[in-house]
Amino acid sequence: MDEGKKKIIKNGDIVLPGDYLGVIEEFLPGEGIIEENGELYAARAGRVKIDLEKIEISVDPITDTPPLPQVGDTVIARVIEVKPQAAIVQLLKIEGRKGYREIATSKLAGIHISQVREGYVESMNNEFKIGDIVRAKVLTNEKSPIQLTTKELDLGVIYALCSSCRIPLVRRGNVLVCPKCGRTEARKLSAYYRKLKLE
Ligand SMILES: [Zn+2]
Repeated sequence: MDEGKKKIIKNGDIVLPGDYLGVIEEFLPGEGIIEENGELYAARAGRVKIDLEKIEISVDPITDTPPLPQVGDTVIARVIEVKPQAAIVQLLKIEGRKGYREIATSKLAGIHISQVREGYVESMNNEFKIGDIVRAKVLTNEKSPIQLTTKELDLGVIYALCSSCRIPLVRRGNVLVCPKCGRTEARKLSAYYRKLKLE
């Protein structure tokens, strides 16, 4: 089999300028296609579009879409619901080398009870509360909702409010303390609790 250069091109394939796409006997060249000696090449980076009615091939430019979190990405999210088996969070930002990128869509993700921390979790209510900001890592993104983990030391809650006063809690050892009412609360804390600048 002739692999490499002459692989079969399908609708939706991502191509780069100069990629071989076929011959003139198969398709008419459309937008974003260069024809050279009867062979068709991509003129730009983009997504292949094959129009079977017109027997035409073209390359649609890839437009800037809001980034979707990839497996292994570190994300910042807000807890919107705490269930017995999982916390449901809304993704806010993706952490990158150059800082944080906004996630434009209000995507939801889940942190399963088995992915909260190393060891046994007695109650999800001692790990997360509604409104907490968490730093987490993406485990899977094929299924909906996206699955996250907070097992590592630098992952977990990075910002939390007192359940009664709604003011930011202060970390004292492994618990959080309210500077106003003195109440202590438990969370799965990140080593970065109140240490990250999210701008
Ligand atoms: Zn308080």
